[in-house]
Amino acid sequence: MSESPALPLTGAPDHPEGAAPHPRILAIPAFQDNYIWMLVDQAGRRAAVVDPGDAAPVIDALQAHHLDLAAVLVTHHHADHVGGLAALRARYPAMTVHGPHNPAIAGIDRRWRAGDSLALDGFGVHFDVFEVPGHTLDHIAWYAPRLTGDDTRPVLFCGDTLFAGGCGRLFEGTPVQMHASLSRLAALPGDTLVYCAHEYTASNLRFARKVEPNSAALARREAEVAALRAAHRPTVPSSIAVERATNPFLRVNHPDVQHAAQAYSDRPLEDAASILGAVRHWKDSAR
Ligand code: ZN
Ligand code: FE
Repeated sequence: MSESPALPLTGAPDHPEGAAPHPRILAIPAFQDNYIWMLVDQAGRRAAVVDPGDAAPVIDALQAHHLDLAAVLVTHHHADHVGGLAALRARYPAMTVHGPHNPAIAGIDRRWRAGDSLALDGFGVHFDVFEVPGHTLDHIAWYAPRLTGDDTRPVLFCGDTLFAGGCGRLFEGTPVQMHASLSRLAALPGDTLVYCAHEYTASNLRFARKVEPNSAALARREAEVAALRAAHRPTVPSSIAVERATNPFLRVNHPDVQHAAQAYSDRPLEDAASILGAVRHWKDSAR
């Protein structure tokens, strides 16, 4: 950040190119570092929220913006993503909860599989459902190829699968599964906004630098992220293009990442999934 120009008087540093937040998607911070994303409908009267781990901040945000809760999208079964469902149901009984085919999650009205497409009435959007096992086995991602309105950029709600600069821990799935899931997401259009569920970016990038210490793209991004955090702003959304350029878990086919992973493992690694597994293991032990 050394030679960057003075910040504007509003104090808001720019997001990485192509990743300015979507005007109809608002961040609701929860717990220590979760984001519950709130998509506002075209009329500005109703909202859909993603992964409400806690109900109270969601209710506060809905009231502050005079919005009714129409729908909830769930990505996976962890408590910090579904813990608010019951209290939201009590408060907004007409809401529809959409989630994965996991009977262990209580309170889901409609369960979705890969290849399904959910149209949200009045929101000017439909979501394609991807099954992205790895972090958990039930994990799904919600991808909107286009939003109606002034800002039509594609949007991805990916929970704890793809993070800005990283990926979720492999609690249930294998490196092979996570590699397939991340490859699916990495193939989306570069301008897709990546709305992940945690503010982990700064620590993710610190690790990424160990994997690719000579990456200029990574150095630039670290500076941008540091400026956003200094201004107490979310570093999310990211974009698929930014992730492809800087996220080591999307770069397992790059020679620099392969060499680093093999040096860490101290043995040759045969395929991309093994590289990913090694980098994931490295990050788990680096914390
Ligand atoms: Zn999780
Ligand atoms: Fe989580």
